[in-house]
Amino acid sequence: MTREVDVAIIGAGTAGLTAQEIVARKTDNYVIIDDGPLGTTCARVGCMPSKAFITVANDFHKRIFFEEYGISGANVLRPNYSRIMARVRMLRDEFADGVIQEMLPFMDKLIRKRARFVDPNTLDLGDEQIRANHTIIATGSKPCIPEKWKPYKDVIIDTDQFFELSDLPEKMAVFGLGAVGIELGQALHRLGVDIIAFSRRKSAGGLTDPSLQSYAFEHFSKEMNIKLGTADIRRKSGNGVVVGCESGEWTVDRILLATGRCPVVQGLGLENLGIELDDRGMPPFDPDTLQIKDLPVFLAGDANGRKTILHEAADDGSIAGYNATADSICCFKKRTPMTITFSSPDIAIAGLSYRELTARGVAFVTGNASWEELGRARMILGKAAGIARIYANRKDGRLLGAELVAPAGEHMAHLLSWAVGAGLTAADALAMPFYHPVLEEALRSAFGQIMKQTDDSAPDFELERCSEDPSIRKMKRPRMSPVRGCSMNSLTQYI
Ligand SMILES: Cc1cc2nc3c(=O)[nH]c(=O)nc-3n(C[C@H](O)[C@H](O)[C@H](O)COP(=O)(O)OP(=O)(O)OC[C@H]3O[C@@H](n4cnc5c(N)ncnc54)[C@H](O)[C@@H]3O)c2cc1C
Repeated sequence: MTREVDVAIIGAGTAGLTAQEIVARKTDNYVIIDDGPLGTTCARVGCMPSKAFITVANDFHKRIFFEEYGISGANVLRPNYSRIMARVRMLRDEFADGVIQEMLPFMDKLIRKRARFVDPNTLDLGDEQIRANHTIIATGSKPCIPEKWKPYKDVIIDTDQFFELSDLPEKMAVFGLGAVGIELGQALHRLGVDIIAFSRRKSAGGLTDPSLQSYAFEHFSKEMNIKLGTADIRRKSGNGVVVGCESGEWTVDRILLATGRCPVVQGLGLENLGIELDDRGMPPFDPDTLQIKDLPVFLAGDANGRKTILHEAADDGSIAGYNATADSICCFKKRTPMTITFSSPDIAIAGLSYRELTARGVAFVTGNASWEELGRARMILGKAAGIARIYANRKDGRLLGAELVAPAGEHMAHLLSWAVGAGLTAADALAMPFYHPVLEEALRSAFGQIMKQTDDSAPDFELERCSEDPSIRKMKRPRMSPVRGCSMNSLTQYI
């Protein structure tokens, strides 16, 4: 049996569902194909259950300050792991169910099968074929276990399995200190699991600024047992396993694998598209249009491995959905980049990272903000830590990006990325109101430092004079010139 459609979407995750919304505005003749559990990775095994788990751990952690606050009796508090995990699953089910409820209006378009390309316009679903004018691949990513560790699968827990645990192990190794490793590792530690975490570099949460990398590594090492080195699995030991790195060996019950995720492209028949794949089996695609070569096929969300975070997957879905139903392929500017790791303190990158600025040869200056001594941070015990490094154009102080390890860093990251996206200078940011006492006050000194280092003379006074010609402050704001090239995003116009 062969069905003919305008658009076939493979994958009903965030990217696929966002694409569906856009496609459905143009045509009713589409299908969405998914053979896996519905509800999206984010709601089922990603963003949502991880934050539910972290919230419990952070709340429990506060008990260590109670005595100092003048509250007695905290030492009798105990976490009940099976109840904690059951509640996380209960919330997870609600989130995933919410997604499924939103799919009800187009359930007749959903095909619960696995798709495989026969050629760029034909998908084989086993007992039927789909002829599609355009196809969107939105198959997401999955935890990847290196081949050499596969014999230890029974002691390895990946993020697809973690939230299914009915109890928590006593001793756990955490491999990798990226966003997922530091988030779940710290939460496990705060709940009383004996953690040993491994990181190949002195860094955490994807930071790229060397001084901040060291700061983060030292800071988290004070709280948790972190080993610098390449983690490996040595041998099984009873029901557990011996793990190690260059500096020693340790026996643990289980390993939490947080070394990254791989795009799901295997088994899709991409070799039948008539294009060359790279050594990971990835097809070449345009990051601004998401089109694979000149084929009527688009690659969206985690499946393209570009930025494996939720709002980027959703944007990809929109772009792919638009282009799969448009008369001509359109390129789209990216939003200001932003990544957040929900550790405590949070780790975040807003706008361009230190590594990106350096690689592009941008002349930039840096302002530092610190929460180590900030009054408001010191009132909240355990929060008086954190540093932000804010980068600005050397010439005019235009904000370009920031990396930070900060209390309420999720909010700082939004503030900073919106300021970067709006093209504000450090002077513009300082002219904004700062309430007292708030954690945001720490940013003021960073903006002040930037103003002192820029080539153009900064305004002599933070407040704008009523009689002041606005061009004195605003003249350096770039004209929003029309985008000339596909690869240009709103940030690259400023540098
Ligand atoms: C532990 C964890 C925490 C995270 N925390 C955050 C966070 O705090 N913030 C954030 O922004 N991001 C976070 N993420 C990342 C975020 O969850 C993902 O970027 C996002 O869910 C990716 O969406 P997607 O649509 O690309 O893929 P998915 O939601 O995974 O959808 C892919 C779909 O494709 C289907 N599929 C695969 N192959 C086939 C096939 N051949 N045929 C048919 N169907 C197929 C699958 O069944 C699946 O339903 C986290 C991820 C993890 C694992």
